[in-house]
Amino acid sequence: MSRAIELFVRMHEVRSVTADERGRQTLTGDIILAVFGKLQHKMPLGMDLLMAKYVHDAPAANRIIDVIATWLNDEPLKRKDLAMALSCVALDVFCDKPVASQKRQLAALWRKYSDQAKRSNRLIKGWQVKIKQLQRNVYSCETLAAEERLLSAINELEALIIKERRRIDEYAQCQSLKSSTCPRCSGTGSILNTGECPSCNGHGLFVPSIDNIRQHLRHIGLGRVSDKLWESELKPWFEKSLGKLYVESGETGYELSKELSKQI
Ligand SMILES: [Zn+2]
Repeated sequence: MSRAIELFVRMHEVRSVTADERGRQTLTGDIILAVFGKLQHKMPLGMDLLMAKYVHDAPAANRIIDVIATWLNDEPLKRKDLAMALSCVALDVFCDKPVASQKRQLAALWRKYSDQAKRSNRLIKGWQVKIKQLQRNVYSCETLAAEERLLSAINELEALIIKERRRIDEYAQCQSLKSSTCPRCSGTGSILNTGECPSCNGHGLFVPSIDNIRQHLRHIGLGRVSDKLWESELKPWFEKSLGKLYVESGETGYELSKELSKQI
């Protein structure tokens, strides 16, 4: 992440930036905001792209979709509806958001490898050990009342396990929608002492292939598209719109750096 983007994110996440904890900050919040305002006016699409990608700003994403819809006006495409849907997928890919088929994969990894999941599993194991102990004690109970007490304690622990499993499932689902970073290696692509991360094959990210994208069209209910339509129209459009998003955001990131460095 460049210094300009880092500032951009910090300015949007915390209300004001006065000093950098590393002491590098020589810009005041007011100046940074003025630069942002100037660029917002000059390069609205690029700034929205940075907002959507780095600050997860939903209104910015909606404005981008409106702009993309205008790109389609000048295109001689037969299936503008599918092209529009693909552009929205392109925006997700640009923002590093996973497509549906990858969300399942990612959720499974979150359920298994995240710190939260590991903590949950430790808790659950502890409860399971306790249940076993209690069950052993049930056999040696001498009174019915004592047995009932133990059984109800076991039930309570079982309910806790179910609740904890549900909680971690929800967490994994929720995380899998947010980012395509591999939870097993935290996006580094490698695992300490063992080398390449086997879950993401060392990529660190679950970046959808063009085939994933085509499958995704089916997944969002738009049906199968013929090879001819895909190759001649949709695939080139997808690549074109994704390319435009990268170019626009890249240019804006560059301008942002330039304008900020002028102020120092
Ligand atoms: Zn990985």
